[in-house]
Amino acid sequence: MADPLSEDDILEAIARHIGRPGQGPQLRRTGADISRLPMLDLRIVRCMEIRTTRQETRPGTYDTSGLPVYEGDLQDHPVEPPKDPAVSRTVQLVLRGSVRTLPCGCDDGRQPCSRCRAKGKLRCDIGPVCPACKGEEPCTWCDGTGERRRKRATAGSAREKPPAGRTTCVKCRKPRTACPECLGRGTKKCPQCDDTGFRVCPVCEGERSTEHTPCGGTGLVTLWTGGSVRQAPERTSLKRPEQAPPLRVRQQTGRAGAWERDILTSAGDPLPDGLDPAHAEAVEPVLAVRQGEVARRVDIARLQLAAVTIPDDPDHVFYVFPGHDGPQVLPVWSRRRSLRVAAVVAGVVVLVLLVVALV
Ligand SMILES: [Zn+2]
Ligand SMILES: [Zn+2]
Ligand SMILES: [Zn+2]
Ligand SMILES: [Zn+2]
Ligand SMILES: [Zn+2]
Repeated sequence: MADPLSEDDILEAIARHIGRPGQGPQLRRTGADISRLPMLDLRIVRCMEIRTTRQETRPGTYDTSGLPVYEGDLQDHPVEPPKDPAVSRTVQLVLRGSVRTLPCGCDDGRQPCSRCRAKGKLRCDIGPVCPACKGEEPCTWCDGTGERRRKRATAGSAREKPPAGRTTCVKCRKPRTACPECLGRGTKKCPQCDDTGFRVCPVCEGERSTEHTPCGGTGLVTLWTGGSVRQAPERTSLKRPEQAPPLRVRQQTGRAGAWERDILTSAGDPLPDGLDPAHAEAVEPVLAVRQGEVARRVDIARLQLAAVTIPDDPDHVFYVFPGHDGPQVLPVWSRRRSLRVAAVVAGVVVLVLLVVALV
């Protein structure tokens, strides 16, 4: 651990910052107050592991020889954690001796088509209503029935359509009676069934059966007991001091602070030397080994930080921390100054409101 900034170092840095180099001892005599706020930024990535077994099934004859094998209890099988605990991965294993290829139990890889209920065809509507005559009076003689239509009580001779544009009816064979679009049928021909009322099943294409999915049409399935080892990262962090310093201080220390960094890679690693005792106490429970943890990386970053007030300048708190070229000083408005500014702003607002009210 780097030598901590002494009180003299801190006060001298402030003296230089306010243009009074060499007057650090003077600041001390006039009652400078130094509080230490050591910063800690701890990040843990744990590799957490979950192991499960289940019955695996694949269609046909399936080659498991590319998969690693385990014996006995999966929990006892050694699986290396990933080198980088932030990486996720899943290792699939096969229980030794559990692989069997068996008949599927279906009809030689086929199953009855469920769409057509193994009939090979589906019912279909006959053609839609003729768009020209709307199905009304497709033939003036037979009305599409092929037989002379009955005289309708309401259908006077006024409703009888003139024969112009009419053609020979396919039903009754009378000339100049039928709608030229549907030729007296009243409907258009159904493009799917040609008006037969049935069409070929699109699923089995008339075969009445389809490939049995579980066996892929082979009539065989391969079964085994599979083990799965899933390793995935879990992240935790801890920051101190508990009451975070002002945002500007956090930004500036992040950019310019000479943080001390340590990395721990296993649960047994000792905490770094010189870790603040309060930090050590906060860190211990966070570092405890968790159930399922198989690897970890802990990044510990520390920075000394002091908040200093001097009676000569009650409007500022001087934050001092080690930078890469000596101590850095960052003055931030004190609470007293902030309150005063807030009061002034509030006063101005009241004044403006008064003026507005009076005008
Ligand atoms: Zn007709
Ligand atoms: Zn028609
Ligand atoms: Zn049809
Ligand atoms: Zn079918
Ligand atoms: Zn099958």
